[in-house]
Amino acid sequence: MERCPLENGNAAELVLAYGARTLDADQQVAFERHMLSCAGCRELAAAQQAVWSALDSWTPEPISSNFDEKLYQRILLEEQRPWWQRLLRADWSLRPAMPVAAACGVLIAAFLLRSPEPAPAPPSSSQPKLRIEQVERALDDIDMLKQLGVESPSRI
Ligand SMILES: [Zn+2]
Repeated sequence: MERCPLENGNAAELVLAYGARTLDADQQVAFERHMLSCAGCRELAAAQQAVWSALDSWTPEPISSNFDEKLYQRILLEEQRPWWQRLLRADWSLRPAMPVAAACGVLIAAFLLRSPEPAPAPPSSSQPKLRIEQVERALDDIDMLKQLGVESPSRI
């Protein structure tokens, strides 16, 4: 390299290519030979080498390499859920009341269905007593279900 690249304005480009190891073998040998006799290019190359070694020693944290990707995937997954799934996940307080109410409805329906008592003409004295017992049992069942619902709301 007869002329100093600092003189013809190619120094920055040349030193960058030298630091990145993208010079041809001939160019690299010529520049290294030139640096032996040129303090300016030596300093420039040394500064460039310092930058590259700093970049080499810097490695990104492995945990943060795909952290954003995972986060966005989760957000996307959450947004793709059906609205009713998000509602159920968001509002757990509504859930325990529903099965108790449904069970009470079934009990009342069963009581109404069997209350006409199609028995073949039993003695008239025992008929009202039987019905009262049935009503009391049904009411007790409903009370028990209500207590279960109140005392252990997280059961369902
Ligand atoms: Zn030079």
